Amino acid sequence: MICVICKTGTCKPGKTHFSAFVKDAFVVVKNVDALICENCGEAYYDADTTRYIQEQTEQAYHNIADVEVMKV
Ligand SMILES: [Zn+2]
Repeated sequence: MICVICKTGTCKPGKTHFSAFVKDAFVVVKNVDALICENCGEAYYDADTTRYIQEQTEQAYHNIADVEVMKV
């Protein structure tokens, strides 16, 4: 699959971190399966992964704390 963003890179399966603002919080879902562009790094998610990201994002938002430690 050729990347639709840069139109030159090839997308290969890999793992990435999905991050997004949810209302007043910033949520990171780690180690998500994606097709990642070798050139610009754009990530593409399939339907199952998109559902997984939505579930994780919602869960994370509801379990939110003022102070959070993220292990990297
Ligand atoms: Zn690209």
